[in-house]
Amino acid sequence: MKQCPKCNSEYEEEYTICSDCNCELVEKEVIEEPENNNGKISKGFLFILAIVLILFSPIISFKLTLIYFNLVDVQQYSAENFKWMLGAYHQSLLVVGIIICLHCILYFYKSHKS
Ligand SMILES: [Zn+2]
Repeated sequence: MKQCPKCNSEYEEEYTICSDCNCELVEKEVIEEPENNNGKISKGFLFILAIVLILFSPIISFKLTLIYFNLVDVQQYSAENFKWMLGAYHQSLLVVGIIICLHCILYFYKSHKS
């Protein structure tokens, strides 16, 4: 399919010049369907969110550990303190994981709904 660049009339392949405006015909541009940008944005957003949350989880656990150590007034590290620190880290990872999973489930649900 060919098309006149001036009047946008469509012609069959064998024509080369527009009969109305004597313009040279060009190949008709395939008009692409407008892509769903919302899906792309939310995908990228979720990816960034996941990375940020993963990066933040050690910071969260570190802060929790600091709060705990200040509360119990730790003078020196013991096995119990170390266990608490590990627990805080694991729990913050768990919370972050749940948040990421919730977003993924929501996204999956939304994309399959429409
Ligand atoms: Zn024309």
